[in-house]
Amino acid sequence: MSSIISHRVANLEASQSLVMAQRCQELRQRGVDVISMTLGEPDFVTPAHIKDAICTAVHADYSHYGPVAGLQSVRETISRYLLREKHIAFTPQELILSVGAKQSICNTILALVNAEDEVIIPTPCWVSYGEMVKLAEGTPVFVRTCAENGFKLQADELENIITERTKLLILCSPNNPTGSIYTATELGALVRVLECHPNVFVISDEVYAEINYTGSAPSLTEFCTIQDRLIYIGSASKTYAMPGYRIGWMASKNKELINACITLQGQYNTCACLVSQKAAEAACGGEQDCVEVMRKEFAKRRDLICELASDISNIRFSKPDGAFYLFPDVSAYYGDAIHNSDEMANYLLEEAHVAVVAGSAYGEDNCIRLSFAVSEDIIKAGMQRIKDALLQLNNKD
Ligand code: PLP
Repeated sequence: MSSIISHRVANLEASQSLVMAQRCQELRQRGVDVISMTLGEPDFVTPAHIKDAICTAVHADYSHYGPVAGLQSVRETISRYLLREKHIAFTPQELILSVGAKQSICNTILALVNAEDEVIIPTPCWVSYGEMVKLAEGTPVFVRTCAENGFKLQADELENIITERTKLLILCSPNNPTGSIYTATELGALVRVLECHPNVFVISDEVYAEINYTGSAPSLTEFCTIQDRLIYIGSASKTYAMPGYRIGWMASKNKELINACITLQGQYNTCACLVSQKAAEAACGGEQDCVEVMRKEFAKRRDLICELASDISNIRFSKPDGAFYLFPDVSAYYGDAIHNSDEMANYLLEEAHVAVVAGSAYGEDNCIRLSFAVSEDIIKAGMQRIKDALLQLNNKD
């Protein structure tokens, strides 16, 4: 029987990280003591001044529809914040607030991509890019990057994959799931390729920029030659531990694109939740100490998880430079019992009661993703369970 669901939606895959979180929840309900290392969000509570701001906004009756692109005062605050904290210059008119960066990215893809257009996505990559391109009926062109290059797209790889159908490149730095950060030199090399292909747009997903262990995360916004076709993506979710408030933004110097995204968003969800916008205003306009406190805590956990992972034989990984994920290669354990990352994630969940996300979800089947947005105790217990479970596999083979 033919499906009632449109082919557009029927072809979409569920987010594997959400599926894994759901399975973990189900096991817990059955009384199993599961450790979850699937979390794609900070485990910290939202800082008090941000919570106060949303309460104030509720009492000030921010309960009506607002302007599609966001409240003017909030766009002004974010524009000032980007300049002050990151030396990124976008006017309020060049910014659109949306329901999380997820919607900002989806808006951009839907506004730019036609059926048949190709979108280059270096893998490992965040789970949603490819599905959003499919939603736009475009063709995701995945380019597998290698661990030896820090899982970063090389200029020659970009040059070789661009065709006359290429509409867009999506770059994510710091990267989910690898934690890699492109250096300014590496970005410069990619920009030189893009300069030769003036019809190719670029989404620069920088939602993890503040969670870096290198002092700074260089941004594609530093390169003036591609500004008319660059879309900068930011978010309050990870930086301020407020993912449930659902505020993210896109910024672009391309007026035509900004207008198209405003039309799209206007028809689709009117505007991002106003009280959440006021919370994001307090986050970006207020003191930034909370960001540094969380970053330092993540840095400690990163060191801990890397130390514990070094103690597990036959896994390979690079110390992440940013975000809060370790992405180890566990393929040395593939054999008669386990053939791929999905089976490995299942095995760890069923046998060790540790939930991780299979690397296949990110386009890299040799790896699994471990989130260290959990307490040090959870990291220690989870890594011990993983170590024991892998040791058992060794003994079986
Ligand atoms: N981009 C990346 C790389 C992500 O990992 C996420 C969330 O996990 C997002 C964008 C979307 O973030 P949000 O919609 O919460 O702003």
